[in-house]
Amino acid sequence: MPYYPQNGRIGWWALVRLYISADLEGVAAVVSSSQLTEPLEYERARRWMTEEVSAAIRGASSAGVDQIVVNDAHLTMTNLLVDDLPGYVEVISGKPKELGMMAAIDDNFDLAFFIGYHARHGSPGVLSHSYSDAIVGMELNGLEIGELGFNAALAGVFGVPVALVSGDEEVALEGSQLVGTSFVIVKSSVSQQSARTLLPKQSQAMIEQKSYEIIQAWKTGNVHLEAYYLEGPYCLRVIFRSPLMAKIVSFMPGLKQRDPCCVEFYHSDFPTVYRAFQAMLILAGRP
Ligand SMILES: [Zn+2]
Repeated sequence: MPYYPQNGRIGWWALVRLYISADLEGVAAVVSSSQLTEPLEYERARRWMTEEVSAAIRGASSAGVDQIVVNDAHLTMTNLLVDDLPGYVEVISGKPKELGMMAAIDDNFDLAFFIGYHARHGSPGVLSHSYSDAIVGMELNGLEIGELGFNAALAGVFGVPVALVSGDEEVALEGSQLVGTSFVIVKSSVSQQSARTLLPKQSQAMIEQKSYEIIQAWKTGNVHLEAYYLEGPYCLRVIFRSPLMAKIVSFMPGLKQRDPCCVEFYHSDFPTVYRAFQAMLILAGRP
């Protein structure tokens, strides 16, 4: 009979629920911005993204995960070729979503996977950036943070640990504060727009294998996974590329402009901070 330690609760017959947030820049063989914009190149890139997500789903399902929700988390958020995903998953597609890359995360999930993730703005990582080209820096309670850390912190307030991250070696480095997380390194950066990359088939096989292994290890209590929980109250500092963007964003109630390009938002509730950040992205004109 299965014995699943989940979210601090110990249960018999418990369903295991997995949340997957899927981005594009951290997928194997995706290295340059033309692959995100040029139609033919983009069609190939989104297929690789779909196949990496499918690999994670297959691994998790063979290890006994009961329910999987995949959130399409790149730009338009309509990248995944949904016809090609295994039929038993739910997909969150499109935008706007008030929790953006983490839409629908809550304490019903046991574990999260981040597939195709990339390092934060300023990192030498492949296609590194933080949510939008409008942003040149983010700090949470004085800690430099990018998409990986900010999204993991939101999962953390719901008690959901990040079990698996795939992307380049720089995003793996950035995730070293996550306890128990497995990383699949699919490429290593040569420059911000070039990499030594695994072939898509290789990265997919590794993601499927690691996905299976980490769920198995968690179910049998052989790995200790901790939710990434940052103590409140929270101060989010965002530095915009232009003073005009920061000024428009500063019209939001509750926001303080610290200097021409920098705004700060304080709140004791982290989902409120995350939602306010989604509004900032839209106001800055680069949602
Ligand atoms: Zn991203």
